[in-house]
Formats: sequence, structure tokens, C-alpha cells
Amino acid sequence: MSEAVAGHAEVASLKGQITQSALSLGFDKIGFAAPGHLDPAGAHLREFLEEGRHGSMEWMRHREAERADIRVYWPPVRTVVVLAMNYYTKTPPRPTGAPHWSNYAWGDDYHKIIKQRLKQLAESLRQSHPHIQTRVCVDTSPVMEKAWAQRGGLGWQGKHTNLISRDFGSWLFLAELLIDVPIEPDAPFEEDLCGSCTACITACPTGALDSPYQLDSRKCISYLTIEHKGPFSEGKDEQLQGWIYGCDICQEVCPWNEKFARVSSEAGYRPRPFAGWNLQQWKELTEEQWDLQFRGSAARRPGYNGLMRNIAAAKQVDSNQGAV
Ligand code: SF4
Ligand code: SF4
Repeated sequence: MSEAVAGHAEVASLKGQITQSALSLGFDKIGFAAPGHLDPAGAHLREFLEEGRHGSMEWMRHREAERADIRVYWPPVRTVVVLAMNYYTKTPPRPTGAPHWSNYAWGDDYHKIIKQRLKQLAESLRQSHPHIQTRVCVDTSPVMEKAWAQRGGLGWQGKHTNLISRDFGSWLFLAELLIDVPIEPDAPFEEDLCGSCTACITACPTGALDSPYQLDSRKCISYLTIEHKGPFSEGKDEQLQGWIYGCDICQEVCPWNEKFARVSSEAGYRPRPFAGWNLQQWKELTEEQWDLQFRGSAARRPGYNGLMRNIAAAKQVDSNQGAV
């Protein structure tokens, strides 16, 4: 749809329509931003890459121009609709000594859930405005989601580098719907509500948050258990602290999560049965069982062998601590 086709009143009502549809589809927060170059986020990405903080995630180097400017990624874009979905489930009841598992991966693959909702949102828009073009983006798209969420007013990037909202804390999946119609943008979220708190930096067991707002992925348990290929170097097992998939420590200690986290109403994020397994059950997991248990889960990424490597590291931690 060209800009000339969309009148002022139509565009105003469009904003309300998109907001209503998004909320009814299960998104918890929505904002609107005007496309453009992302400064200083683009420069920060370059520094991050130049310093090698991305580790082996070479895909982050690809499509850098698109990440820095969403208009390069999709030239028709006139509005970036930023969306967030709360995934917090609370840690399910678990046996003593059970390995730790990141909250976002207890249930079904969020990519699929969010992409489906984004497509429904785009479809609802197309039904009332057939000429509007859209593009849906989840975290596999070359889009700097946290920077866009901040620009669209959803929250700020905390010292642990995750986006924090006033009303949900940081347990949020982010997504974007790009549309080719200009809509009045919301005010960016300019405040930094971390203040003098440094709880996440202090709690991080590996020093991955070596300074505020800076993450060194190579040291992060989340990177090590999901992205890292091959065996762990000497001494890493203890550093993983029993986490076998991801790590939530810096989010768990955040006062914004303590105060504002709410349990998600999305059924797809509810923990699967493996959430209640003890260490022995994890150790006995066969490849066939893994394939069944993790079908349609985001936690397939390290593969069976990667997960078993992580479980072996957790065993070492537990035997060191005498917990099992
Ligand atoms: S996820 Fe864990 S290891 Fe990574 S920065 Fe946060 S506390 Fe540190
Ligand atoms: S723990 Fe404190 S410093 Fe870290 S993100 Fe939360 S509020 Fe900010």
C-alpha cells in the first residue's frame, strides 16, 4: 500500500486495530517505531563482533548492514510494529540435585508459536486492508530486536543485556511485524531503570557480564550449553553450575523480575514432562527418547550429543558438591 493511499484517519484507526488484534492473539506488549538506522546499537554490534564476543556464532556477522538498518533488510518498511510475549512459567517442582534448565525452553518452540501469531496478525490486517504488505520477523531474522523494542517503547536493555519491561520484567520473547504504511510512532523508552543495581553482574558465575551492558558470549553458560560445539575445556564443567540448557541466573536475580514477573497464559510454554526429571533420568536419556521428548521444542539446537555433553558436565558438578 503506498503512503498516499492511507489517509490520516485510516492510519490512526490502523494503529488501534493492530494493537487490539495483537493483544487478542496473545502478545502482551506492543509498540510502534519508525524505521531507520539503529544508532548506537549498530555501532555496539560492530564492536561486539570485532572483539570476538560472539564466539563461534558466525551467523551474527552475516547481514550486518540489514541488522543496522531495517530498510536494507526490507525496503518497503514504513513502520516497525514491535511485540513482546511473556513466557515465564516459574520453575516447575523438581527433584533435589536436578540439573537446571532455562525457562524459555520448558515448552514448545517459541519460534513456531510466535511466527504463527504474527502470521495471524498480518492476515487480520490484510483482510481489512488488502493492499498492505507485511513481513514477519522472529529472532532468526537479521533484526536487532532489543534495540527495536526499546525504540518502540517496550522497555530498556538492562545491565544483563536483556530487554526489561516495567510490567513483565525480562521474561519476554520479542518479535516484529513490518508494514509498508507509516503509523505514528510511540515514544522510545529513554529511561534506564537499572539505577545503581548490579545484582546480575555479581550473580553471573562466569564473569560473562564483564562490564554493565556488555556480554561476552564465550563465557556465558547459555552460549556454552547451546551454541558451543565439541567438548568443554578444562574447568568449564564446574562453571556451568549444573545448567544443562541455557542459564537464567542473571534474570532470576533481577529485582524487576522478582517484582513484576507473571506466569504466562500461553499453553504452549507450559513445561513438558522432562521438567521433573532427576539427574539419573537425564543421564539415561537415549537418542530415541530425546527425539520424542524434544520434538517441536526449541531445545533441539545442541543436538542429542551436545545435550549429553552438558548432562555429563552437570554430573561432574553434582559429584563435586556431593549432591547426588
Ligand atoms: S545467562 Fe548466566 S552465564 Fe550468561 S550472563 Fe547471565 S548469569 Fe552469566
Ligand atoms: S539485576 Fe539490576 S542491574 Fe541487572 S538488569 Fe536487573 S535491575 Fe538491571
